[in-house]
Amino acid sequence: MGQNITLRCTSCKNAISLSVGQGLNDNRLDRVLTYFTDNNREIIKNELNKHGGNVNWSFSRMIASCRINHNLRSLPTFHISDETDRIIVAQCDCGGEHDIFDPEGLELGTVKINCPKCGQQMRYIRNGFWD
Ligand SMILES: [Zn+2]
Ligand SMILES: [Zn+2]
Repeated sequence: MGQNITLRCTSCKNAISLSVGQGLNDNRLDRVLTYFTDNNREIIKNELNKHGGNVNWSFSRMIASCRINHNLRSLPTFHISDETDRIIVAQCDCGGEHDIFDPEGLELGTVKINCPKCGQQMRYIRNGFWD
């Protein structure tokens, strides 16, 4: 079950609403692959082929922050649970790499996100769940 969350800045009141986590059908590879660009799909397929398809994987929409334009968004991520534990993440439209934040860590308070507008800490509010 995924979560609908809001990140609200403690200083400037900037607020961003995001849907994160995974839905009921997000354990199906054919479905999950449709969330990625051609380029990322190729990377994922190559990774799976390396293991002959015998590797645990999981999918999640995580909170992502672009390192160039600092936009916050919900981003599809593909996690391959092999010895290197890779997470495959799309680039931002601007070409920047994303920093990824685990929504669970945010809820637990172990992850902090700063406001893209003023740099102060953002507060996490859970609004509900989605399937
Ligand atoms: Zn702010
Ligand atoms: Zn960007």
